[in-house]
Amino acid sequence: MISKAKRGRDTTTKERLIDASSRVQPERAYLVAVEQAESESLWSVEDSLSELGILARTAGAQVVGNMIQRLRHPDVATYIGKGRVQELSDLKKTLGFNLVIVDDELSPSQQRNLEKCIHARVLDRTALILDIFAQHAHTREGRLQVELAQLEYRLPRLAGAGVDLSRQAGGSRSAGPGGAGGAIGVRGPGETRLEMDRRRIRGRISELREEIEAVREQRRVHRQQRAARLMPVVAVVGYTNSGKSTLFNAMTDAGVLAENKLFATLDPTTRHITLPNNQEALLTDTVGFIQKLPTKLIAAFRATLEEVIEADLLVEVVDVVHENAIEQSETVSDVLQSLDAIDKPRVTALNKIDLLEDQADIDRSLYPNAVPISALQRTGLDELRAKIAEVLANTMEVVQVVVPYGKSDLVELFHRRGHVLKEEHRADGTFLKGRIPRSLSGYYREFLVNSLTAQHPE
Ligand code: GDP
Ligand code: MG
Repeated sequence: MISKAKRGRDTTTKERLIDASSRVQPERAYLVAVEQAESESLWSVEDSLSELGILARTAGAQVVGNMIQRLRHPDVATYIGKGRVQELSDLKKTLGFNLVIVDDELSPSQQRNLEKCIHARVLDRTALILDIFAQHAHTREGRLQVELAQLEYRLPRLAGAGVDLSRQAGGSRSAGPGGAGGAIGVRGPGETRLEMDRRRIRGRISELREEIEAVREQRRVHRQQRAARLMPVVAVVGYTNSGKSTLFNAMTDAGVLAENKLFATLDPTTRHITLPNNQEALLTDTVGFIQKLPTKLIAAFRATLEEVIEADLLVEVVDVVHENAIEQSETVSDVLQSLDAIDKPRVTALNKIDLLEDQADIDRSLYPNAVPISALQRTGLDELRAKIAEVLANTMEVVQVVVPYGKSDLVELFHRRGHVLKEEHRADGTFLKGRIPRSLSGYYREFLVNSLTAQHPE
């Protein structure tokens, strides 16, 4: 359909690399994936590997090659099997890489064994994602969460060769405070902690948990205040790089960082929006999802993801020109499932249609409440807003009320937060028929007339 060049994915990656190499030589990385015979993943091993390549480049590495190993089961000791280890060891001499990245989560002993045999640092997908998170965490909450996830990941991996290799790699790359420098996988907010012994790491972990709990509590209070203002919350979700931040900016003029990078957004941002029926809502931009995101990692970002968990409606952004659009959307659904958010009302923004030669290509029927848009060119947004309003309206209660003339604030509230279908000025007050959020219906209970809910007296 669309060539990679036209999408401009590679351009940004190159700019980053040039940027990185002006300070230090980019690390040379070799990628390894294992295809398991009985894998239930929707993703092909090739697609997953090419995504790993984008992740590696996002982290600042130069990818010098890759291999796919087909196995019935991953090897317990080395993950890829002895033969392949030898092959990697030989390849290292000809290609000169200092980093091997494996497209799955390795056990600590697999990682150690591989490092020992290949004499290169070995990272898995989880460590790579954590590394990118570390570079993009800007708020206190984001940094706390990343540090916790990194320490939990590193704790069981402290013993053995891994540490020595990480030390060497970290030390040779002029790691500055704040984690911008340093070797991939060993930098970030937790960088200076790497050398701590296990006990101190454990201490730090419980400290971090407490701090995160405090931040969570603040967030909870925040949400309560929001709930008191009775605005529905709409969370933008989607695969990483699908265009969530671009859409968020287009709908709110918020100026959130939108970049052709995986995980440019780590910290949720919330803004106020007004829908076509004058209903107000809060829109939240969230961290992107990605396949093989370990449940432990999802748990580490739970405070951030609570925005998703507590939203009234989800807008899923799908990059329709991506060759894995369907797999990506499936992955988003898997993550939503693990967050217990799968049954929330959902609107799908089929994004980047400006890159399609023929818009008739899009199959709307695959997604719930789908609206084709271009977040970048800001087209289709009115239809998207109308769809959000419509679906939100369905989460509301249909009522008919007569509000006494002395209570005009309730009439105004109905207009702002609800959806008025009919309004009449009667002798005893303002007659309103329409939908209001369930959280608001209490205000109108005493004024109900012949409504659906009036059939269920308390
Ligand atoms: P996020 O990771 O989901 O927040 O994605 P971003 O909003 O950061 O966007 C990722 C990349 O896709 C950026 O380079 C955007 O400019 C690009 N992008 C987003 N929306 C569109 C669109 O409608 N059309 C095109 N052509 N590119 C888009
Ligand atoms: Mg983003």
